[in-house]
Amino acid sequence: MPQFPGLLQSKLPNVGTTIFTVMSRLAAEHNAINLSQGFPDFECAPELRALVSKYFNAGLNQYPPMAGVPVLREAIAEKMESLYGTRYDPEHEVTVLPGATYGIYTALATLIRPGDEVILFEPTYDSYGPAVEVHGGKAVYVQMRYPDYSIDWAAVEAAITPRTKAMVLNTPNNPTATVLSAEDLRMLEGVLKKTNVVLISDEVYEHIVFDGYKHQGVACFPGLAERSFFVSSFGKTYSVTGWKMGYVAAPRELMAEFRKVHQFNAFVANGPLQHVFAEYMKNRDAYLQLAAFYQKKRDFFLEHLKGSRFKPLPSRGTFFQNLAYDAISDEKDTDLAIRLTKEHGVAAIPVSVFYRQPPTHRVLRFCFAKSEETLARGAEILSRL
Ligand code: PMP
Ligand code: GLN
Repeated sequence: MPQFPGLLQSKLPNVGTTIFTVMSRLAAEHNAINLSQGFPDFECAPELRALVSKYFNAGLNQYPPMAGVPVLREAIAEKMESLYGTRYDPEHEVTVLPGATYGIYTALATLIRPGDEVILFEPTYDSYGPAVEVHGGKAVYVQMRYPDYSIDWAAVEAAITPRTKAMVLNTPNNPTATVLSAEDLRMLEGVLKKTNVVLISDEVYEHIVFDGYKHQGVACFPGLAERSFFVSSFGKTYSVTGWKMGYVAAPRELMAEFRKVHQFNAFVANGPLQHVFAEYMKNRDAYLQLAAFYQKKRDFFLEHLKGSRFKPLPSRGTFFQNLAYDAISDEKDTDLAIRLTKEHGVAAIPVSVFYRQPPTHRVLRFCFAKSEETLARGAEILSRL
């Protein structure tokens, strides 16, 4: 094996393997029910797979256009306009990408110079902080208030300085399973009004909002749309996280710079799959019924946890259910997550890993994008603790 003879100074000295990889690996090693990493354990729609056969056999084997195939960009623009009321020009304002993570990373690469500040909300989805740091930016954290994980907009305003270049928002939110209200977004609109801050809005769970709420995202608010990169993922919406396909929409001025970076990195997203989604997106029910589909799973999981000593926190969106365990143990959540996996056969994500310093409250995150049988077995084990 070759060995690097020099000294390499890490750009991410405090980063190890992601918690999702660690917990999924541990779950596999111990044959545990894996409610940790967020991915569905069921098949995607058969119609979607049929389209994959069709388009992978259509000779579409060479590079698609850098921004994405026009039919898909048009389909995305139409969908966004009909759902959120903002028209994005498919030619200049929509770009198809290899996943939402890549979109957020590329937006940060487009914006951040060394020393620039980026506002993140804590707990923070794992990819944001490192993506800021690797570009020499400085993450500035605003706490979401436990136990409802609400945002104090006055604290957000106070965190903005002349160095603030961007803010990363995520609603519905991973890992808290909260959703922002129209009032929240109006407050944010007011806070950002007199600034040059660019918003990167991670809305990968846009179609998974429960209890009759309507998703409120940046494309619903003109004062936010004009300064935002809206990022979404086909992985979540169509239960195909492994296909790594997503997209970004933004005003032309922002998108022109974004594409300059994108064209020298991934350059394009998978060609045949773009045609697959362009055609499949015509079926609006597939995404309009997703919330009801996951709400049923959330309720099924909670029903089977009745009588358990785990205390559910509200799950208003995403496919995650957080459970507080004060009544069960005073172990650290990282320790409990490992012990639960090894000794009891259920894997979860310890929420403290989404903080710089572990908070005093203790919560585990469970993914309910699973078959009812898996959820019932998992809940039964948890109920015995
Ligand atoms: N953002 C959030 C909040 C997520 O939870 C995830 C993945 N589960 C992603 C981004 C990643 O999306 P993609 O797989 O399309 O990169
Ligand atoms: N977003 C998924 C989760 O929260 C995991 C994605 C990943 O493993 N990077 O569980």
